[in-house]
Amino acid sequence: MDDQQKQLISFVVPVFNEEECVEKLYSRICETAESIGMKFELIYVDDHSIDSTLRIIRGLRERDSRVKIISFSRNFGHQVAVMAGLHHASGDCVITMDADLQDPPEIVPQMLEIWKQGFDVVYGIRRTRKGNWLKKTCYKIFYRVIHKISPLDLPLDAGDFCLMSRRIVLEMQKLNEERPFVRGLRTWVGFKQIGIDYDRQLREAGKSKYNIVKLSQLAIDGILSFSSLPLEAATFIGVIISCASILYALYTGITRILIQFDIISADHLIPGWATLVCSIMLLMGLQFIFLGILGKYVGRIFTQGKRRPLYIVQEKQGFEDD
Ligand code: UDP
Ligand code: MG
Repeated sequence: MDDQQKQLISFVVPVFNEEECVEKLYSRICETAESIGMKFELIYVDDHSIDSTLRIIRGLRERDSRVKIISFSRNFGHQVAVMAGLHHASGDCVITMDADLQDPPEIVPQMLEIWKQGFDVVYGIRRTRKGNWLKKTCYKIFYRVIHKISPLDLPLDAGDFCLMSRRIVLEMQKLNEERPFVRGLRTWVGFKQIGIDYDRQLREAGKSKYNIVKLSQLAIDGILSFSSLPLEAATFIGVIISCASILYALYTGITRILIQFDIISADHLIPGWATLVCSIMLLMGLQFIFLGILGKYVGRIFTQGKRRPLYIVQEKQGFEDD
């Protein structure tokens, strides 16, 4: 309890037109904080709301200096808002959560306990999820696809709701990607990470700010950011087409021999057909193979363009800047 009082916990909450939720979230965080004697700051990152969200959080700030505000000049999107919160958080650990109470603050004490055992990231795994059937299915498919095609071990059904230790936050602050995919970057940083199950609640009030288009954009950002497989897929397709063309050429050759020996008749054969099909398929296959090779190079330029540091050191000994 004692060091809980000393340590500062930062909550980072992106908000976009959440006038019905911000005050409720504040109360729920206060209740949780009181129940375990936690010192906290609550950073609302206003992603250029056009309702009265900003007015309400300004009111909260007047009453309680633990509430802090970052307000964007325009709508930059949820993921950028989370990154801005991370840049400004000064806590010993940071908890990122949505404003709509789908991520229950009551789980935070459990996250803090695990953090104290020495974990750097405690992320929430959505054991159950309520709401729109289509969205739920899309999320399920997305997490499985990205898990399969990314060389990183991205956890299934884990969103942005998590606790990050100070050293994770410091590393995240260095990642200045234009289209950040926070849950992927968090996994990329490494150190000791663990998931805890929770039941994702229904949105407390208001409407989801993610429609299918925005959701697909997020999914594409995630996939492009953490896998170059789509770029390289052409090689695979090329090899299949080339193999098919070779098999077809073999089949044609065998048929010719069988005709020569009068084992089968030549009635159904169209002159020149096989040569045409074989050469088109072979050329197409070769084109795809070279497209894939090109993809590999572009993939490398793409990764380089993201300017992620090459590695992150966990510990150093025997150097001057230890
Ligand atoms: N959000 C944001 N900017 C946006 C869209 C959403 O800051 O352009 C915030 C929103 O206020 C919420 C969080 O991101 O706190 C998640 O959005 P939402 O709950 O609408 O997404 P869903 O849970 O439906 O996927
Ligand atoms: Mg939500």
